Amino acid sequence: MSSWTVDKAKELYGIKYWGAGYYDINDKGHVIATPEGPSGAKLDLYKVTLELRQRGIRTPVLIRLADLTKSRVRLLNTCFQNAIKECEYKGGFQGVYPIKVNQQRHLIEELVTFGGEYSLGLECGSKPELLVVLAQKQNEDGIIVCNGFKDMEYIETAVLSSKLGRHTIIVVDRKEELPMIIKAARKFDTKPHIGFRVKLASKGSGKWVDSAGDRSKFGLTTSEIVEGYELLIKENMLDSLELLHFHIGSQIPSIGRIKASLKEGARFYTELKKMGAPLRYLDVGGGLGVDYDGSGESDSSTNYTEQEYANDVVSIVQNACEEMEVEQPTIVTENGRALVAHHSILVFDVLGKNTLQSAEPPQVPSDEKHKMILELEEIYEDLNLKNLSEYYHDVLHIKESSLQLFTYGMLNLKQKAIVDGFYWAILTKMKELSQENEDLEDIQFELTELLSDTFFCNFSVFQSLPDSWALGQVFPIIPIHRHDEKPETKAVLVDLTCDSDGKIENFLDIESGKAKKTLEVHSLDENESYFMGAFMVGAYQETLGDLHNLFGDTDAVHITIHENGGYYVSDVIAGDTVSEVLSFVQYNREELMRNMRNSCEMSITTGNITRREAALLMKYYEEGLAGYTYLEQHEDEL
Ligand SMILES: *Cc1c(COP(=O)(O)O)cnc(C)c1O
Repeated sequence: MSSWTVDKAKELYGIKYWGAGYYDINDKGHVIATPEGPSGAKLDLYKVTLELRQRGIRTPVLIRLADLTKSRVRLLNTCFQNAIKECEYKGGFQGVYPIKVNQQRHLIEELVTFGGEYSLGLECGSKPELLVVLAQKQNEDGIIVCNGFKDMEYIETAVLSSKLGRHTIIVVDRKEELPMIIKAARKFDTKPHIGFRVKLASKGSGKWVDSAGDRSKFGLTTSEIVEGYELLIKENMLDSLELLHFHIGSQIPSIGRIKASLKEGARFYTELKKMGAPLRYLDVGGGLGVDYDGSGESDSSTNYTEQEYANDVVSIVQNACEEMEVEQPTIVTENGRALVAHHSILVFDVLGKNTLQSAEPPQVPSDEKHKMILELEEIYEDLNLKNLSEYYHDVLHIKESSLQLFTYGMLNLKQKAIVDGFYWAILTKMKELSQENEDLEDIQFELTELLSDTFFCNFSVFQSLPDSWALGQVFPIIPIHRHDEKPETKAVLVDLTCDSDGKIENFLDIESGKAKKTLEVHSLDENESYFMGAFMVGAYQETLGDLHNLFGDTDAVHITIHENGGYYVSDVIAGDTVSEVLSFVQYNREELMRNMRNSCEMSITTGNITRREAALLMKYYEEGLAGYTYLEQHEDEL
């Protein structure tokens, strides 16, 4: 058997392909983060996880890397600066971050700070989000873009905020909103900043394809745009129309779709401009995808780079403007996923496994004469490389027949147990044998799948990876250590919830570019925790996550990496306690305690429980309410 190397692990888990240069594996076989690229500072994720545990921070833990957020903000802005220079584009560029992608306060504050030198602004899509955005520091020249369905309160708040010096642009998403904006502006005697969202015919592709097109939820049809323009003229407010916006959906895998929408959207801009609208900004929305699986072709991937995206946006807008001889606008993007998806990692421990592999055949009682059992016994004894392929198919067939015989009462329970025992023992023996012969690679592959383990993992798919459950989205999930050892088995990962959907069986297969059902894993060691990381979970997952089975928010940490490989934990956000999660569904801690106390007293009276046992039960109950919703390590295991 050829020896295993860390390089082989890198290839197997495709870390070069999906990691965008931000993740790698070091000589010790630990996964490292390199937010500034391969030559920059490094963070050993395994070492950090152990050291977080020493601090009392529990797994599952969400690790947020501020440096990676910074690196992404810089990358997107640099790409646009490059494109503007290359094309000699006459307008500028500024991004806004749509906070719905991840509204966590620490992240928003980091983005505003890192985006300071790039005039990064914020976008909100609801009233609560507007209130968050208004209270943040506004970067110089930064804008606030207000999207989503709006009521009068939303609009009046946005209009009034301009009196605080905020550059709040209210985008008309439904035609009814324009008269409301005009009314609010009159009421407060101020000039509003208005944007129109246009409903494009060009659609995105991938999982979020319905965000554009005639039936999309948001935006104005062509005739509504014209009506809106006329209304503004009538009200003598055309000079408030600053921005034109469109958004064709998230995680767009194909650059072709993006280009088509840009061409269409830019035409709306140039036409309105020709008609005398003083538009300054063309807001091309979000949708810039990230590469979750490294394939370059699936819905979880992209067939373009950030630089290609920027080049296309700039050149298409420029061409459209030059053709119609109108002024080139400041290009605004609302990319959220591309800014924050990479920055966070969920690290969880594996609690144990179910295995079907069996090194020993079952004992057969001497009086057992069932033909099927005798046949299996013979196969087990006779099995060799020459007959392996033939026997493999025989055994699959026998297993199927055994089920029928059992159903019709011709095989009893003990006999069925022996048949099953042989089945798994024979497959296990076959898997080992097949490794000796390369011609048996196909069967070996099937055997590894059939014999794959089930790993019980300390997290909830519904809380931490909702899009994996809801949309079948692939996230890179790999062990974060032991890559200097060959992973001997394959496994499906199941979470803590009592829901059969609470599992991950969608892993990237670098060789085929398709998703595969099982992941290569190492054998579990009783004396050492086995840690895995789910990467690129920074976009959408946190807020979409839910409380299925009452598993709450995980612990989270913000980490800044130092040049010398050290790091600083700038914030620790404790996950939900059990009583917090219970209060979300209207249980009151004191009342629960009182009910338990009463039950104890009653059982003490009847003599069913001793006073000391009751005291212990109450202690466990109270500690349980204050504890983590996930499985916790015992003090002495740390
Ligand atoms: C959700 C949303 C975005 C963000 O999209 P990403 O794909 O995350 O970049 C941008 N603009 C609007 C209007 C949105 O609704």
